[in-house]
Amino acid sequence: MPNLTVKEAMENLRCRKLSAEELAGECIKRVKETEGKIEALNTFCEEGALRSAKQADKAFAQGKDFPLLGIPGIIKDNMCTKGLSSTCSSKILCNFSPPYDATVVEKLKGHGYALIGKANMDEFAMGSSTENSAFKKTKNPWDLSRIPGGSSGGSAAAVAAGQALFALGSDTGGSIRQPASYCGVVGLKPTYGVVSRYGLVAFASSLDQIGPLANTVEDAAIVLNAICGHDERDSTSVHMQYPDYTEKLKDGVKGLKIGVPKEYFGEGLDADVKEAIQNAMKAYEDMGAIVEETTLPTFDYALSAYYIISSAEAASNLSRYDGVKYGYRAKDYKDIVDMYYKTRTEGFGAEVKRRIMFGNYVLSSGYYDAYYLKALKVRTLIKRDFDRLFEAYDVILSPTAPAPAFRFGEKSDPMQMYLTDIYTVPVNIAGLPGISLPCSLNAGGLPIGLQLIAKPFDEQNLLKTAYAFERSAGLILEPSLKGGDAK
Ligand code: GLN
Repeated sequence: MPNLTVKEAMENLRCRKLSAEELAGECIKRVKETEGKIEALNTFCEEGALRSAKQADKAFAQGKDFPLLGIPGIIKDNMCTKGLSSTCSSKILCNFSPPYDATVVEKLKGHGYALIGKANMDEFAMGSSTENSAFKKTKNPWDLSRIPGGSSGGSAAAVAAGQALFALGSDTGGSIRQPASYCGVVGLKPTYGVVSRYGLVAFASSLDQIGPLANTVEDAAIVLNAICGHDERDSTSVHMQYPDYTEKLKDGVKGLKIGVPKEYFGEGLDADVKEAIQNAMKAYEDMGAIVEETTLPTFDYALSAYYIISSAEAASNLSRYDGVKYGYRAKDYKDIVDMYYKTRTEGFGAEVKRRIMFGNYVLSSGYYDAYYLKALKVRTLIKRDFDRLFEAYDVILSPTAPAPAFRFGEKSDPMQMYLTDIYTVPVNIAGLPGISLPCSLNAGGLPIGLQLIAKPFDEQNLLKTAYAFERSAGLILEPSLKGGDAK
């Protein structure tokens, strides 16, 4: 059961080998067995999940059918769920139950999925380890002494531990792909505009995108089918004919041109990761793809541009948490200014405050031109660099992260933490689709992720490329849920 895919579950439900109630029951059992160890969830919806599952069984009996009917899923806690706590793992939203559902949640409900729970995350999705949660530290199911990645660490750990068959995460600079790589699951960040951000608590609006975490590439495609589409409530949501993302999965990679920018193999790349990625390149060649080294000259500037742009947007987005409109309000205060001050001082954690200060700094007069405007120009150059690469290549290949999951407290210097995103942020800056999939295990038994990147709206080619590797690698991934020794 922990390894059951969405696809297999769908088949079993349709031929009545399995009821939705049994399936939800299995996930609930799994949550009870594993949650004490991994702490992936902020909210556990045991009763609600069983209720949805029973409704799904009824719907099946009435001949109704939607792809995710009766499938258990988990939602990152920065997506609004009507009447259900949506905290962003922040004290400032600890008592916030939204009066509406995010579009993605509405769509999943329309399919009749069963919500197992809301996943822990870095506060307001700022972080790479989930250590910035105000509530708890989620552990990596492969080694409980290590972080699960972040900011969608709860979503990734939950899927790896079999608490649900899929989860939704959000990715502003790598927060779906990086935790997916650390936890040995598949994580897909769609093209900016493919999935509605309505009801996703904004971190950096020009970079944020919701996407699936799942056990297989096919499952990620099935979930993407369910959550994509134009939404008039999100002005950046794209009006187009959305394809069936599972349709081309099996097309193979013969003749496909894969570019590997050499900048992704610079200083700081772990030797095991490098070897695993080189093996993946060989595997693609064996399957008939053309794999070539190439270059992305602006790569070195992506991380700086990302932290300037994302913090500037965050400073603006987070100004709404003032103790009046949402969530927490400080108890004792003299006047309204004092109330704002104390509410924000007490409600936000250290990393969020750092980003707000940094963001306001780069936007302030005198520094706007030197930092913010410069970063926007760099953004354009990075986008042009990718456009040029995609004239020659169908897909770009790289490691997802420079090294596998690290230990708690290991990256207490914020700069060290930011460096774990070095391979994922260029994708968000350019608005591209990217996927991380399990590539190999290192000598210590920790998962290594392979990142693939495609042109805007070319998720079908991205997914088929990932699918081909997943098939050829045939990795069987079962996290130990144990402490792990200090290798
Ligand atoms: N780790 C990056 C950050 O801290 C990315 C976060 C994200 O994608 N939400 O900003």
